[in-house]
This record gives sequence, C-alpha cells and structure tokens, in this order.
Amino acid sequence: MTYFNSTNKNSHKTVPESKYKELQKQFSGLIENARLNEQLFKRFSQFEARLMESKDLTTLLNAMTTEFGDYFEVPYLKLVLDRKIFDQLRVTPLNLNDFEGILTFDLTNCSHLLINKSGSLYMGATPKRISSEIHIPINTLSFAQLPLIRNNTLLGILNLGSPDQERFRPDMATDFLERMALITALCLENACNMEQVRQLSLIDGLTGVCNRRAFDDIIIQETSSAVRHQRQLSCLFIDIDHFKRINDHYGHQVGDEALKQLSAQVKPLLRRSDHLARYGGEEFAIVLPETDLQHANLIAERIRKNIAESEFSMLGQQLKMTLSIGVASLNGSTAEKLNIEDTAHQLIKSADEQVYEAKKTGRNRVCC
Ligand code: GH3
Ligand code: MG
Ligand code: MG
Repeated sequence: MTYFNSTNKNSHKTVPESKYKELQKQFSGLIENARLNEQLFKRFSQFEARLMESKDLTTLLNAMTTEFGDYFEVPYLKLVLDRKIFDQLRVTPLNLNDFEGILTFDLTNCSHLLINKSGSLYMGATPKRISSEIHIPINTLSFAQLPLIRNNTLLGILNLGSPDQERFRPDMATDFLERMALITALCLENACNMEQVRQLSLIDGLTGVCNRRAFDDIIIQETSSAVRHQRQLSCLFIDIDHFKRINDHYGHQVGDEALKQLSAQVKPLLRRSDHLARYGGEEFAIVLPETDLQHANLIAERIRKNIAESEFSMLGQQLKMTLSIGVASLNGSTAEKLNIEDTAHQLIKSADEQVYEAKKTGRNRVCC
C-alpha cells in the first residue's frame, strides 16, 4: 500500500492514500463552498448598495421587487407593504400598478400573513393559505419570508418562492437573508420618512391641498404627459369674489375658515386624478388631466354653482361665497412639444386671463 507523508513535520505519521483522497475531496468541497459564499456575499453587498443609493421611494420599491429577483434568481417575489405607507402619500400618490409584485395590506390587522409570529425569518415548505392570499404560484415548492421590522413596527413582508424544493430549506444558514431584511427595512423606513417630508413640503398648511410649489411641478408633469400621449389637458383658475369683504366684515379667522371649507367642498367634486392647489391667497388652481375645454367648462360650472348655492357656517357666522373661474385647455397632439415649460405657463396664463374676464363681466361666472 502506498503512503503519503503528512505535511505536519513534527509528526512522522503517514496517511493512507484513500483517506488522503477523501480529505482532498472534502477540502475541495470546502473551497467550492467558500467560493460560492464569496460570490453570494458580493451579490448581497452589491444589492445592499443598490438599496442604499436609491434616492426616493419609487426607486427603492423598484429595486426591492424587480431587481431583487434578478440579483438572486428568485422566480417568485411578493412584497407585502403596510397600507399606511401608501395612505400617507397624499400629494403625489404612488400608483401600485406601477410596481410589479407589490401588495398592500393593513398589517396591524393582518398579522396572519406572518409565518413566524415572533417576526423571525422563515425558510421551508410553502404555506398554502398565505401563498394563495398573496398570489404566489401553486408550483412554489420552497418559500422564504423576511419580515421587514423597524422599531417593533412591521413595515412589510418580503416573500420569496421557488419551484425548486432545495432553494429555501429550514436547515440553511440565514445570516445573509437576516442581514438583507434588516438593511431593506432600514432603507424602506428612511425612504418613507423622506417621502413624507417631501409631501409635507408640498401641502398648504391652512387648507391641506397642494401648495403653489406642488402645483408648479404638477402642471409641468401633466403638460409633458399630455404632449407625450397626445391628450387633452385643462386648467381652472378660481378666485373668490370680494374675499376682502369677508375678512373686513367677519375678521381674518373667519376668512381662513372660509378658505378651508371651500377647498374641502371642492375636492369631492373632482376625480382622484385631478389636482387641486391653493395657488396663493384666495386663489385656487385645478389641473384636469385628459379633459377637453368643453368638459372642463362643465366641471367649472358645477363647482361655481355648488359654491354659490351653499351656505357656509363658521365660527358662529353664516356666509355665502361666489367664485370667478377661468378655464383653459391644451391639445397634446398640437401643443408645442419642444418647450414644455412654456406650454404649461401659457396654459396657466390663459386660465388666469379668463378669471379677469369673469371679474370684468360681473363675477360669479365661468369664462373660457
Ligand atoms: P375680487 O372679487 O376682485 O377678487 O375681490 P377680492 O376682495 O377677493 O380681491 P383682492 O385680491 O383685492 O383680495 C383678496 C384678499 O384675500 C386680500 C387678502 O387679505 C385675502 N387673503 C389672502 N390670503 C388670505 C388668507 O390666507 N387668509 C385670509 N383670511 N385672507 C386672505
Ligand atoms: Mg385674488
Ligand atoms: Mg378675489
């Protein structure tokens, strides 16, 4: 029998060839494992960097859904997010349809979606009831669930599925995925906080509708979209008639309350996709996407009539208000395509000029 010398110089023992080959095989296996782990670690690090460099919530959510699958070759991914995250985005709501693989639930009342109630990570067989509720395909044979928790609050649950039974086994090491859940939750919390601050900076403190800064952004975005998709876009400018008299007669507090009640009454008269903004003082502006001049005129008339026929009750005072409304529209297929900002400003200017026309011709009217 051939013997090989041990590499340990202090011992003169020898190792049988068969044992040596077995050790060599084990050693190669360990090297291969280390190599795979190194690759995995690199991918995790790259993905973490992608999450951390996401500048806003939209980019982060895209990275968490579409890019995650690509980085880690996970065929089925469903990100369940707490609905409150989306409800807080009032000014520029995120459209869930823009994100592949995101579902929202009220997670304070849907804790049954968590497999490990302690909030720890799960890997193993696919829980049928949960996977059908979050629309994971039935051929999913192994499943991983990463609860995204920050400060004892469940922000979301990242669910991963594979048709390969061996992909997520209960005996697998969970360090990488646990770290990933932690980083993802942290990035999600940060992005939500940033988005909330951004949205707050776009809301008018008195009335709760968009402010002038938000309006200026919205009109550019909507003009650009109307031109791109060759659609109609309309804009209404509203000025309260003789508002100074309300202030002079009842005081500024009543005037403030009148502005609040007016915007609260106009908002429900609009579609979800319309944007109501306080343009300044007692002037409001409304952007109506996909609306032509004729329809915008009808909407303006509906608003004018609704307000003129209402009696407002505030701080013990009953008062009436009337509005002068200017309407302007643009046709996306014929509008100036090269300078969107000029086109948007022209739309605002036209609506504003119509308000003056309404004032000149007697107030409490719509001009277009
Ligand atoms: P007109 O029919 O020509 O529009 O008359 P008006 O009195 O509404 O127009 P004018 O622009 O002269 O006055 C607007 C008034 O709105 C003056 C200002 O004191 C008042 N105003 C502007 N912002 C606020 C606000 O935030 N709160 C209150 N209470 N009043 C405001
Ligand atoms: Mg005014
Ligand atoms: Mg006025």
